[in-house]
Amino acid sequence: SQQIHLASRPTGMPSQANFKTVDVTLPALQEGEVLVKNTWMSVDPYMRGRMIVSDSYIPPFQIDEVLEGGAIGEVIESMNAQFPVGAKVSNISGWRTTFISDGSDLTLLPAVGLPDQHFLGVIGMPGLTGWVGLFKVAQLKPTDTVFVSAASGAVGSVVCQIAKLHGCKVIGSVGSDEKADMVKAMGVDAVINYKKVDDLTQALRDAAPEGIDVYFENVGGAHLEAALNVMNPYGRIPVCGMIADYNAETPQPGPSNLLLINTKKLTLQGYIVMDYWDQYGEFVEQMGQWLKEGKVTSEETVYHGLDQAVDAFIGLFEGKNKGKMLVKI
Ligand code: NDP
Repeated sequence: SQQIHLASRPTGMPSQANFKTVDVTLPALQEGEVLVKNTWMSVDPYMRGRMIVSDSYIPPFQIDEVLEGGAIGEVIESMNAQFPVGAKVSNISGWRTTFISDGSDLTLLPAVGLPDQHFLGVIGMPGLTGWVGLFKVAQLKPTDTVFVSAASGAVGSVVCQIAKLHGCKVIGSVGSDEKADMVKAMGVDAVINYKKVDDLTQALRDAAPEGIDVYFENVGGAHLEAALNVMNPYGRIPVCGMIADYNAETPQPGPSNLLLINTKKLTLQGYIVMDYWDQYGEFVEQMGQWLKEGKVTSEETVYHGLDQAVDAFIGLFEGKNKGKMLVKI
């Protein structure tokens, strides 16, 4: 099996030097075990947090050990009747070509007739993250005006589309004109290329003169500051992530206008998708339907080969992806 190990803990933007490729010989299968060959793996922003030692909801990766993360694979040898040869499984043993499992960490892909890799994106963890943030955390209403940062990404593109389906007015923020075109094609009402505007608050006010009711927070920093300026009283901010801070070498100052949380009586609520897996069934049913009806589309950026996985991961912080960033192994 070929695996990517963490060689050292990154400071600032990760680089190739923080990772190394290792060849490992796997032992023979024991009774109850299967050999899985990964076909797709996910790279996700949260993995950056696991590369350092911090007080987090998930333990850090260990130096000189294989990384892990969401992946889709196929059983190629089996001594476990639950997972016969040919079965497709989602797993959390990404960053490696093959691995042995006793089945306890494998889930058979639901037979809903969708491409396998969608289970790492639109109908997988990022999709559930968007759905939960809007409906379970922000209690989205059809009359809401919604602002979404990192709007063209895995989570953001789902958020934009399902908020539109719910009847909301949606404004997205993205880092390139190409991404703006993609998000517009998904039906959002206005798109801001944050790299091209001098004053994000003004751009947001222009796009939403009526004010923002829900800010779907993916980015932090200047985006949060601008959103706070334009929020309506009693607005809700599901805090999904703050990618602008993930590679910061020193603690970043908060927005200068946090007092607005008080005066506008805002609700900011952080959440972690892992706490909502019990709702995955409900989500799959709904999202599967939307995908089949063409009401939600899946955008993906694919890097090819395990040796491209580190580039794909770093690319997340350079805005290289439209939609879900994936590695085809
Ligand atoms: P994306 O597919 O959105 O990829 C990351 C994107 O973020 C890039 O394409 C880039 O787009 C944007 N970005 C990167 N750096 C910056 C920056 N400095 N300022 C502004 N934008 C930046 O990733 P995901 O959809 O997987 O994740 C989106 C957010 O959701 C992240 O914050 C992530 O941590 C969070 N998340 C939270 C979960 C939870 O359980 N709470 C679960 C999953 C994700 P652009 O070109 O537009 O800048």
